[in-house]
Amino acid sequence: MLYHSTRGADEELTAAAAILKGIAGDGGLYAPECFPDITDDLRRLCAMPYCLLAKEILRPYLTDYTEAELSEAVDQAYGEKFDNPEVAPLTKHGGYYFLELFHGKTLAFKDMALSLLPGLLKTAARKQGLDSGIAVLTATSGDTGKAALEGFAGVEGIDIVVFFPVNGVSDMQKRQMRTQEGGNTYVIGVYGNFDDTQTGVKRIFADGIPGVYLTSANSINIGRLLPQIVYYVYAYAQMINKYGLKPGDPVNFTVPTGNFGNILAGYYARQMGLPVNRLICASNDNKVLYDFFQTHEYDKNREFIATVSPSMDILVSGNLERLLYHISGSTLTKEYMDMLSKEGRYKFCAEAEGFAAEFAVWNECFDGIRELYELSGYIIDTHTAVALKAYQKYKNRTGDTTPNVIMSTASPFKFPESVCKAIDDKYEGMDAFESVKALSLLIGGDIPASIASLEHKKNRHTTVCTPADMRDSAIKALSIRTRNNLSSLSQCRCTPIHN
Ligand SMILES: *Cc1c(COP(=O)(O)O)cnc(C)c1O
Repeated sequence: MLYHSTRGADEELTAAAAILKGIAGDGGLYAPECFPDITDDLRRLCAMPYCLLAKEILRPYLTDYTEAELSEAVDQAYGEKFDNPEVAPLTKHGGYYFLELFHGKTLAFKDMALSLLPGLLKTAARKQGLDSGIAVLTATSGDTGKAALEGFAGVEGIDIVVFFPVNGVSDMQKRQMRTQEGGNTYVIGVYGNFDDTQTGVKRIFADGIPGVYLTSANSINIGRLLPQIVYYVYAYAQMINKYGLKPGDPVNFTVPTGNFGNILAGYYARQMGLPVNRLICASNDNKVLYDFFQTHEYDKNREFIATVSPSMDILVSGNLERLLYHISGSTLTKEYMDMLSKEGRYKFCAEAEGFAAEFAVWNECFDGIRELYELSGYIIDTHTAVALKAYQKYKNRTGDTTPNVIMSTASPFKFPESVCKAIDDKYEGMDAFESVKALSLLIGGDIPASIASLEHKKNRHTTVCTPADMRDSAIKALSIRTRNNLSSLSQCRCTPIHN
């Protein structure tokens, strides 16, 4: 299997090379040249536990990895790191199916891919003859950062630098990142929103850092995307094994969407032959994708709204580029992306078949949490609630009765203030840890250990910088002492803050 840039078909890379590079030289993303077909294997795949299934799905994409390399990476990723033996259990509450993707170490679906990426990347580096001086740079809207830090902490030969919008993530997300341990981890706040942060990281990639091999753990890395295909197949298998779906019957998925990575993996699963009817793209108040699917115009020129589902507060959905490429090819994709960077908008002149889109604003999301709790006692997080509401709107609008799986992307313990307030106004004004305690009483279960331990952990990472100073801050963090960048070090204006 070879990988091409979405903006030009010339370059041909193996999986290891594409994973190591992260982003193509022309600014495009790597995409597979074809989709393996699982249609005839579906029954066999549906009987497999998660690790085995992951190997089966990934093998045809990672043809340059040996069986032993693939096996080791997968077993390390999904073994002890998940608190549920099913890894991603499908549950049913209030008549809705939820695929719980938050049983990894950082309580969000990012763990599904980011527990595997370090293994894939380390092997890729070895294969490419690179065994030190690698730095993973990542922009985060909250959940990627912690999952990447947790995945890469202590990995030899690789440093990880995470940038997050300092006022654009939840209190709990901030604490999770700032308390990260590990001598190879760096966390830097940015005065700006997620798009500023992502743009800043892209600029660092373009400029480079002397003496360091830069790569990305964002979902622009194909090594992030491929592991996410697995749980679509696994959800389908559980619909059959637990809930009596007939093999071959179609399923819909509703996906709370930000950077378009999760839902794109669903598209890949369908291209491989998984019987998926509709992929329903759920947006919050930042409904640029909803508008795109309605009008075919992508237009990021609009107000950025900070919501209670911060991991979806995104106006430039990076992975949409791969969908455009698979539908329209690289020439048009390059034109669209040039338009996007010049004017902030483009008109897509084809049809994205099999997608639907809905959005749910702040108070609808709160309604979703409260209504489901009152109906079933089950508590979902704010992102999953956007998907629940979007699904309800979709169903009312279309009458589509195809069984639907809602992608449950985070534990409610990650957004405890919002979730408690949604359930009852009386929780208004509680801080993060008071809310965590209230939530555990409501759920009648223990506080997840990774959250409980945060209350008394020390913030290790306190640097904050402006978008313009991100590269200097990264250089300073990595303490690279070459002559070239001593001058940029002296210009560094990053300021530590204390909270
Ligand atoms: C990242 C994230 C999303 C959005 O996923 P994309 O792949 O960026 O579309 C939704 N919910 C949660 C909790 C997330 O962490």
